Amino acid sequence: MTHPRRTTVGIIGAGPAGLLLARLLHRSGIDCVVLESRDRDYVERRQRAGILEQATVDALRAGGAGERMDREGLPHDGIELRFDRRAHRLDFPALTGGRRVMVYAQTEVVKDLIALQLADGPPLLFDARATAVEGAHTDRPVIRYLHHGTAHTLDCDYVVGCDGYHGVTRQAVPQSERRTYERGYPYSWLGVLAEVPPSSDELVYAHSERGFALLSMRTPAVSRLYLQVPNGTDPAAWPDERIWDELEARTAVDAPWKLRRGPITAKSVLPMRSSVTEPMRYGRVLLAGDAAHIVPPTGAKGLNLAVADVTVLARALDRLHRTGGAELLDAYSDTCLRRVWRAEHFSWFMTTTLHTAPGQTPFDTRLQRAQLDRIAGSPHAAAELAENYTGVPLP
Ligand SMILES: Cc1cc2nc3c(=O)[nH]c(=O)nc-3n(C[C@H](O)[C@H](O)[C@H](O)COP(=O)(O)OP(=O)(O)OC[C@H]3O[C@@H](n4cnc5c(N)ncnc54)[C@H](O)[C@@H]3O)c2cc1C
Repeated sequence: MTHPRRTTVGIIGAGPAGLLLARLLHRSGIDCVVLESRDRDYVERRQRAGILEQATVDALRAGGAGERMDREGLPHDGIELRFDRRAHRLDFPALTGGRRVMVYAQTEVVKDLIALQLADGPPLLFDARATAVEGAHTDRPVIRYLHHGTAHTLDCDYVVGCDGYHGVTRQAVPQSERRTYERGYPYSWLGVLAEVPPSSDELVYAHSERGFALLSMRTPAVSRLYLQVPNGTDPAAWPDERIWDELEARTAVDAPWKLRRGPITAKSVLPMRSSVTEPMRYGRVLLAGDAAHIVPPTGAKGLNLAVADVTVLARALDRLHRTGGAELLDAYSDTCLRRVWRAEHFSWFMTTTLHTAPGQTPFDTRLQRAQLDRIAGSPHAAAELAENYTGVPLP
């Protein structure tokens, strides 16, 4: 194949951020190239997020990637909180003036975007690992990359790092010009996929002294389930029966309800971290999605933030392309960081309210229950959670 030597926007990473950005730019008539270090099969199978905010649903539709999502996605009008063997439902539309979320797996979002890109989009190269971004502060930044092991360069007007938390683009910003704010958590999630219909119509977030549990789903036939586990846990230490027994113990309520069990098809351990790198732009290099910020998954915000970033960025590049006006691009970092820090706070709040930390005292546990009681008993507190969960509209 011939390798493109130059493009307007060089995009590193074909996760949801990179793929949607390419789609939106293509629709605006702006040429771009996407470089992805992994192969297509790996990218399409990677199990990750599954809850889409309304703004994410709208952005995917705007990118022409909403057709299968609208057919197969599951609109959800609430979640259930469980603590103290009681269940409390939060009714999102009632609490937020009509907002809801959509359950549609990140694997499917990525498959839809890749199919569109390969059908009529600009170049998308798999097995193309960016090794360096040079000249961030020049008019012509360059991406160096290896495609199937052979070295190439791509000259760009702009480079967008959509290459996730472990990507290379952040390194293009001199250390003196960037600041990273981070926080670790003393627990991880054991996530499993099970070939069994969900035990509840909506997601169940369970607080218990044994640790947090989340009952979620991918489709009407596939459950996605999570257990809080200690950092460094080996999934092999969790045979299937142990997982089901622990899920049952942590989600138990004093009401008729039964956890459905079935064959577990995948297990993995996901560490939890909060991190934000500022600013999200340096010269002609921009960061989007997990490349700039990550959140613990308890608030279901990672994928939604990635989509919000590239929606704002695509609008800014479209303005520049059509009118020469750079004001939206100049505001990109500040515009995104406001939403990012709101989501960071919410994700931290959900995580620390619902998990049981090692060494947590009975006093700490009573404080958590007081907070959960407040959400269950006060429409104001419930609305605060519901607004954050369903996501604020894009500016
Ligand atoms: C293991 C894991 C599990 C998760 N589970 C959940 C969950 O259950 N719920 C939830 O809400 N959120 C979850 N998240 C968060 C959510 O999936 C992410 O926020 C989302 O994927 C962000 O999209 P992105 O496009 O910014 O980054 P990514 O999806 O990480 O995409 C980055 C892409 O860049 C590629 N790349 C990296 N380096 C290079 C390079 N040098 N050259 C070229 N390409 C490169 C990567 O291969 C990848 O395809 C999870 C994240 C991880 C990592």
